[in-house]
Amino acid sequence: MEAENPGGMDVDLMDPEILALVETFGCSTAAYAREHKQAWRRMVSEIFSPPRVTKMIKLMPSLKLLPGFALDLTELDPFDQLPWDFDRADKRDRARALVLTQKPMFLIGSPACAAFSSWQTLNAALGRDRDGLAHRDRVRAEVHLRFCCELYALQVQHGRYLLHEHPTMATSWGLPCIREVLEINGVDLRRSDQCQFGQIDVHGGPVKKPTTFMSNSQCVLDALAKTCSGHGGSCSNGAPHSLCSGDTARRAAIYPAGLCKAILRGIAHQLKSDGYMADGEQGMQDPSIREVVHHLQAEDMYCLNVDDPGGSGARLCAPIGEPAKPVR
Ligand SMILES: [Zn+2]
Repeated sequence: MEAENPGGMDVDLMDPEILALVETFGCSTAAYAREHKQAWRRMVSEIFSPPRVTKMIKLMPSLKLLPGFALDLTELDPFDQLPWDFDRADKRDRARALVLTQKPMFLIGSPACAAFSSWQTLNAALGRDRDGLAHRDRVRAEVHLRFCCELYALQVQHGRYLLHEHPTMATSWGLPCIREVLEINGVDLRRSDQCQFGQIDVHGGPVKKPTTFMSNSQCVLDALAKTCSGHGGSCSNGAPHSLCSGDTARRAAIYPAGLCKAILRGIAHQLKSDGYMADGEQGMQDPSIREVVHHLQAEDMYCLNVDDPGGSGARLCAPIGEPAKPVR
């Protein structure tokens, strides 16, 4: 029955005890099961990123997470077989609709950062952008960043999580759209050095690449808050840091496996701490599963019973704000 679900998570969550709880909240267990499975299928999604974290999820079934979409220029939109080019308003509309309908529990955003580097800002200040190319890139990058921030706000508004990453020195951290997300209650920043997660150059030398993460998941932020303790240009393991420029910078745009794993462990820890993940036999008895039901209810992820306005006495079921349909 659950061939697509190697973690077996849906099976655990369809436990009779849980379904009984759902009934005590006055809901249709069939609708709960249907909606719940859909919700659990898409736990982590990425935007402005090739499949990195979502790809690794497939390699780590023990985490019991399920990958969602990964949208960027390297991936094709199945709707028209065109790349997810977020310069286009129609692609932004489709991505927004995906976030609204798939409701990823975690949305990871890694918009391009080159236009926000301090040397770009310096060049512009010195009038070195005579052909206006850098200005054009900057305008595009700001459109992408504002779009990301809009999706992040949606995530928080619906009780879900965001994770955003940019270099610590990027000027984007001061932009109004980022400041607005940071003002949302629970959203915080952590600094991290990528050498601590295995970022290396082509010769195997450690690349520090100071990176700042923004999230409303404390567990993810905690998992990522690792800075290098090395001094005088050396990494914590004693090897000299490689300069992060040219080919090394391009290579370092790819997350090292250690960073993907840290993100995933943080996500798994957060979901467990929220009561979402059944922890083996113990999880089946865990009263925190009630929080799952409460949370899903708050999330409109399963149906609330409503009275049939026609007065038929039938049990009707609908996500909040949508017309009610008879329970199957
Ligand atoms: Zn280091």
